[in-house]
Amino acid sequence: MAQLEIETLRKTFGRGEDSVEAVSDLSLSAADGEFLVLVGPSGCGKSTTLNCIAGLESVTDGTIRIEDEPVTERRPEERDIAMVFQNYALYPHMTAAENMEFGLKMTTDLSAAERRERVESTAELLDIGELLEQKPKSLSGGQKQRVALGRAIIRDPAVFLMDEPLSNLDASLRSTMRTEIQQLQEDLEVTTMYVTHDQTEAMTMADRIAVMQDGELQQVGEPLECYYRPQNRFVAEFIGEPAMNMLDVTRRGDQLVADGFEYPVPERADDLRSGGAFVLGIRPGAIEVVEPQTGAATGTVEVVEPLGETSHAYVELANTTVTVTTDGPGAVSRGERVGIDFPPQRVHLFDADSGVAVA
Ligand code: ATP
Repeated sequence: MAQLEIETLRKTFGRGEDSVEAVSDLSLSAADGEFLVLVGPSGCGKSTTLNCIAGLESVTDGTIRIEDEPVTERRPEERDIAMVFQNYALYPHMTAAENMEFGLKMTTDLSAAERRERVESTAELLDIGELLEQKPKSLSGGQKQRVALGRAIIRDPAVFLMDEPLSNLDASLRSTMRTEIQQLQEDLEVTTMYVTHDQTEAMTMADRIAVMQDGELQQVGEPLECYYRPQNRFVAEFIGEPAMNMLDVTRRGDQLVADGFEYPVPERADDLRSGGAFVLGIRPGAIEVVEPQTGAATGTVEVVEPLGETSHAYVELANTTVTVTTDGPGAVSRGERVGIDFPPQRVHLFDADSGVAVA
């Protein structure tokens, strides 16, 4: 059973010529207990989608169901959801405990003693027992976000909605909290929809990710499925760091060619039109450095970024620059002529016009 279901959701802001379609015909569902991450670049409609689910925005068209019940017309507090925001949204005049208790007061008829017990057990779960009597201004960003999480968890909702909850935290705290939220969600088994523009966050946290661009859903799948089998060029470039290399090629006979580049058509792509224009995608980590004048192309190493165990090398070919992930420092050096090659099973091919994956 889908715990959360969005059917042909559309959201338009404004009217007439100035209107913006923030979400177009979006259908998506999350199974019971699933951690679904909505990811995409800034302005693609992620927050609007989440706000429509929460009832903070009205929908222009479409239906939202929670536990099989249509909730599209319901007020936010009648939807059995709890939301966590990027800016924490804590009440400044209330202590951490009062912030957590507030929602319970509004939506349940628990006694004061029962509410206090819930606050304490939730605080224990989040390791914020010591902070309960403090007000938000004396808490760090990470502590505030824990209190905000506590306020969501304490209500035991059918669905958690999280809008970039880690964006205001520094890198190391972000990575710790990432693991904690994931662990918490797994323990609580609450269906979660999590919004981020950060593809690493999406890849590492999600059961499935839904990739959006310009208000439209591009692909839904398990993180590695989106990584290894992107359905189009947008998903291929958005998922993965450093980004997938893209080369404009033309099929000539049994070769894919470009200026100074030639690669045999992979067997599975044999039916692609001869003379057709394609985009060849290859991940930096799938490329091997070989002797110059062997492999698919030869170029000059322009920049090397050492990262410790690996380095990123930028190799200038005739018409483009290719990023290559190499072993540790010293594998290649600046100014060196190198050949590049890669196995056919790692090659992605996209139609040059539509961007749709064709092999
Ligand atoms: P970000 O990560 O930057 O928040 P997002 O993917 O969450 O981006 P949305 O905030 O949902 O994107 O915005 C989607 C589109 O809708 C954008 O073009 C935005 O300018 C527009 N938009 C959002 N809210 C409003 C509003 N209240 N009025 C008018 N346009 C809006």
